[in-house]
Amino acid sequence: MDLRDEISKLLKKYPTLRINQEKKFIEGYIEIGNSKSGKLGEYKINLLIPKNFPKTYPKLYEVGGKILKTPERHINYDGSCCVGVEIIMKKKYPNGLSLVEYFENEIIPFFYNQIYYDYYGEWANGDYAHYNLGILEAYYDLLKIEDKKIVITCLEKLTSEKSKMNRNEKCFCGSNLKIKKCHLKEYEELKVIRDKKIFFRDLEIIKKLDI
Ligand SMILES: [Zn+2]
Ligand SMILES: [Zn+2]
Repeated sequence: MDLRDEISKLLKKYPTLRINQEKKFIEGYIEIGNSKSGKLGEYKINLLIPKNFPKTYPKLYEVGGKILKTPERHINYDGSCCVGVEIIMKKKYPNGLSLVEYFENEIIPFFYNQIYYDYYGEWANGDYAHYNLGILEAYYDLLKIEDKKIVITCLEKLTSEKSKMNRNEKCFCGSNLKIKKCHLKEYEELKVIRDKKIFFRDLEIIKKLDI
């Protein structure tokens, strides 16, 4: 779908949002809550949608001053909201997603989580650590193995010329098993993501992590 159509669909469904023509982003209020819970909160946001959405995801800013701009609250260094780890998003939506879906499945839950944190001082569903460590933890989950070295080996394989693994090759995890009896499923599921740039970037980030 054309990006303009996607934007008008979103604005039609959420009339508290509008386009800032001059600055070319979406601004307005996002209301959190439903008919059952009542209104739990309201946040003022700016949403920048990249031209190549959904290949690249939007940048979300909370601009009403309701969320402390700290890593604990999943706010990035540039002040944008840390809505999700890219590799998880790519895996969750291999065929992309619509803007309304992004808004409802990712942005609204981000604010629900913020409200939960306000009440309980912790995150609702044991989410990822913030920022670069969060990226590594995402790979721990995807590969079902908690070892930075193995994640690096896997990413080196994924970014290499010969990224296709033969079923009878030894697994990258060092188990000495053939990959078909080890991490083939996890590996193939990552390989489905065609945008290798993410793997290159995540590899560099993870290599630099001091853990
Ligand atoms: Zn974060
Ligand atoms: Zn393995």
